[in-house]
Amino acid sequence: MSRIPALLDMISDLIATPSVSSVNPELAQGNLTVIELLANWLEDSDFDIEIMHLPGEPAKANLIATFGRGKGGLVLAGHTDTVPYDEGKWRYDPFRLTNTGNRLYGLGTSDMKSFLALALEAAREVQAGDLREPLILLATADEETSMSGARALVEHNRPQAGHAVIGEPTGLRPVRMHKGILMEAIHLTGQSGHSSDPALGNSALEAMHTVIGTLLDWRKELQARHQSPLFAVPVPTLNLGHIHGGDNPNRICASCELHFDLRPLPGMALQELRDEFRHRVLDVLQDTGIDAVFKSLFEGIPAMETPANARIVQLAEKLTGYSAEAVAFGTEAPYLGRLGMETVILGPGDIAQAHQPDEYIRLDRLAPTVDLLKSLIDTVCIKG
Ligand SMILES: [Zn+2]
Repeated sequence: MSRIPALLDMISDLIATPSVSSVNPELAQGNLTVIELLANWLEDSDFDIEIMHLPGEPAKANLIATFGRGKGGLVLAGHTDTVPYDEGKWRYDPFRLTNTGNRLYGLGTSDMKSFLALALEAAREVQAGDLREPLILLATADEETSMSGARALVEHNRPQAGHAVIGEPTGLRPVRMHKGILMEAIHLTGQSGHSSDPALGNSALEAMHTVIGTLLDWRKELQARHQSPLFAVPVPTLNLGHIHGGDNPNRICASCELHFDLRPLPGMALQELRDEFRHRVLDVLQDTGIDAVFKSLFEGIPAMETPANARIVQLAEKLTGYSAEAVAFGTEAPYLGRLGMETVILGPGDIAQAHQPDEYIRLDRLAPTVDLLKSLIDTVCIKG
């Protein structure tokens, strides 16, 4: 594996290869250059390289690099995209790795390009003859926006493996649960008219008042029905985040739109939740003459839970010395779960530094991460 550069050179090159994900096309850069960089490093290695292009997205791809054959095995996974950065708010160049005061600064250091370099570093000395189960390096596209990379994996039913570690920033503590995310819009249409006579119109704004009451009642029921004490906020949350309706005090409001965010616990299926609130809203609007249109603002991220007694959870707990926790952010883990992997989220960055100006990773996290990944590879792939 002679072409794999030294660890800090890999991190530096990954940071210097911009791959901003954004729903704003002016900011979106795609991740293909990062995928090509990784593929290039692995060119003379024993890894089999597969670049999975995303349909209709020429600048986006996933990389599946497989070392060894057979069933089971371990996936070390990371997304290659970053969020955009706040121009002018950084003390350092976000695209140049700055090594100072036990910190490596750069966009994506914590979240989460460094992990891909650390995974390669851990795999550097593995010999083909040692492997009883495959070691797979997985680098994905678009985690920060649409999860289209992870969804493409599910569509292709690849890769197949028994276990996965996603190196999202968890401060090197294992995580086996996170909530899901839904963002939904409800648009109500009534009838405008002069404010002096309610009979002249049908207020969408007043109807939305009823709808909000229904949603808040539903929230209360959800929170009574579902609790999970491992989470800092142990119930599903529902936040009303945006409302717009009407234009003038002297006009009956003909149109009103509400956006809300729902964070379900593991075991709460996204589509069932969508069906349930839509049903309730339609019920409460029956015979009002108000039209309701529902829209999901994005596809949603399912919640994830890997059982406490899963082998990868137990292994990660033993190697780190921490019990597996629950976190508040979403990841690609539910998609890897759908591919049959038991997944733990465990990475060297800290979530407090992610999505912030002056993002950094602690330099003294690198060596322990390499040791941890080597032990995982040894236990899962070599001892089998
Ligand atoms: Zn991330």
